Amino acid sequence: MNLNNKVCIVTGAASGIGLAIAKRYAAAGGKVAIADLKLDAAQAAADAINADHADAALAVAMDVTSEDQVNAGVAQVVAKWGTVDVLVSNAGIQIVNPVEAFAYADWKKMLAIHLDGAFLTSKAVLPHMYKQGSGAVIFMGSVHSKEASPLKSAYVTAKHGLLGLSRVIAKEGGAKGVRSNVICPGFVRTPLVDKQIPEQAKELGISEDEVVKKVMLGQTVDGEFTTVEDIAELALFFAAFPSNALTGQSLTASHGWSMS
Ligand code: NAD
Repeated sequence: MNLNNKVCIVTGAASGIGLAIAKRYAAAGGKVAIADLKLDAAQAAADAINADHADAALAVAMDVTSEDQVNAGVAQVVAKWGTVDVLVSNAGIQIVNPVEAFAYADWKKMLAIHLDGAFLTSKAVLPHMYKQGSGAVIFMGSVHSKEASPLKSAYVTAKHGLLGLSRVIAKEGGAKGVRSNVICPGFVRTPLVDKQIPEQAKELGISEDEVVKKVMLGQTVDGEFTTVEDIAELALFFAAFPSNALTGQSLTASHGWSMS
């Protein structure tokens, strides 16, 4: 599948899954804006991509919870490349705690990054997609868009919510050539997951090895982590799909942990 110079914005692309998607998009012939809170890391990622694919990547400073920063970042991309064809709303964090101990400020922070971020970035790119009559919006959901786990109230709530937002955009965008879909990964070994292992071990009173083998991978069919490359392939599939038949969907890659 080829992106043929399509202009893509990937949020949270300085690390983990987003970085792998940015690399995959550039390798498939896309132009990719690496939009991240951490400008230095975004710039390093863009430099590495540009070393292999000239002028394929642009680092953009963006806190996805700030409407001004989102609008300014999208404007920067449009000023450089003329439009936006693909949005991957991927930026995310994790905070784990049981509901009764979950700080309200942490709850609001989680919903702001995952849900406000998805809303604000969509709102900013859709006018460009509607103007040209085509575009693909991709949200980074999770198996937690479909399943629940203890300690993850805000994350599960936000990831379920993305399914709803994506389906509304699919309905509103259909007549204007815009598709919207959700990728639902199982556990992928990134900084976001590495941080949770000791936290969950402490909270659940088990060893870190047990967190990995039982909590994270216990319900997979083969005890394997999903990889950033697996998810990047799905992101390419949704971005480059050749017709508008594929919209309003969610696709899970989790080594069989979730089969819905
Ligand atoms: P990561 O920590 O490796 O990367 C997240 C990136 O998001 C970082 O570069 C960070 O700087 C950026 N970011 C954080 N807050 C931001 C903000 N307010 N504005 C802009 N950028 C911000 O994490 P990851 O594992 O690659 O996660 C990426 C996405 O994938 C998240 O939405 C996460 O929920 C989802 N996901 C991850 C897993 C997994 O197992 N790793 C599984 C399912 C879904």
